[in-house]
Amino acid sequence: MINRLRKATSIVRDHARALFPDLRLLQQLDRGYAVGIEVSNICNANCVFCAYQYQERPKQFMSDELYQMCLDQFVELGGGMASLGSLVGDPLLDPHYVERVRMARARAEITGVSMTTNLIHLDKVGARDLLQAGVTNITVSTTGFDEEMYNRIFRSHNYKRMKANLLELLRVNAELGRPATIEVGLRVDRPVSEVMNYPDFGEVVRLADRVSSNAYYDNWSGRIESADLSGTMKIRPDAYKLVKRRLPCAQLWVGTLILVDGTVTACGCRDLNGDSELVLGNIRETPLRVMLRSEYFHKLQSDWLSGKLPSICVDCRHYRPYTSLTRGEYEHGDATPN
Ligand code: SF4
Ligand code: SF4
Repeated sequence: MINRLRKATSIVRDHARALFPDLRLLQQLDRGYAVGIEVSNICNANCVFCAYQYQERPKQFMSDELYQMCLDQFVELGGGMASLGSLVGDPLLDPHYVERVRMARARAEITGVSMTTNLIHLDKVGARDLLQAGVTNITVSTTGFDEEMYNRIFRSHNYKRMKANLLELLRVNAELGRPATIEVGLRVDRPVSEVMNYPDFGEVVRLADRVSSNAYYDNWSGRIESADLSGTMKIRPDAYKLVKRRLPCAQLWVGTLILVDGTVTACGCRDLNGDSELVLGNIRETPLRVMLRSEYFHKLQSDWLSGKLPSICVDCRHYRPYTSLTRGEYEHGDATPN
């Protein structure tokens, strides 16, 4: 209830701010970038709520040479937390994932590594190796702890494997003194109060740092509809319809993603095929620092104030105004399928 009230207050405040955009805040934000690296765009699940099923990009892993280039350019920008994941896909399928985490953490400028995963493949990678390589933030995307629900929502028959892998990850993390913060993100089609009481869930709740759950799911620019969802799952309503989106989207500050082929998109959250106006170039041809300081990118951010939005943004339900950044409601880790 309190969370709903807070959310409603934020939305009202954003509507008010849309009338008087804070240009000083825009300039301050201009100084900070967050960048993610997509190491794989291949998945081993096929969730009903995810646009992975509509991805048209060739499925591949990032080459070693390109990954090295990403690290160099990220460090050149000042480094910070590196998000090593996928726009859609599971990073653990990357056969070099652990080595890539080690390579990132070997750079003094990279202060941590975050990832989102369904954990199905963890037994092939090794929980201990993954944690000791230096991953610091893991979000596990899964369902309620019920095999039938898993089959329904993830359309995967790997429930038992995922559950064993999650318990192993949580136990090893505890044994190592909790080097990583682990959040379990539930995508469920039954009431959360019911799901939390499933017997399989007890140890997970005790060992996880945080358990969250989604009530609403994105429509991925019309690709996912209510009919695709199951049970209590709902398509996210457009909470910002009234403000006509005069405030630029927060993703344009925290969502930059280098896709698996080197293409850079300003929205690593919803630019599924890397083919929208949000594409800034390819790091093989133009350094990231040049793209992020380009006139084109600044115009993408500031055009919103005069009501000019990239077409992919016009009806996007993942939109959240840049003002949410100052409330700590938005992080680069939000650049996940759902
Ligand atoms: S939500 Fe994640 S696990 Fe599910 S299909 Fe999409 S990328 Fe794969
Ligand atoms: S409105 Fe949607 S597509 Fe546009 S930048 Fe924001 S999250 Fe990405």
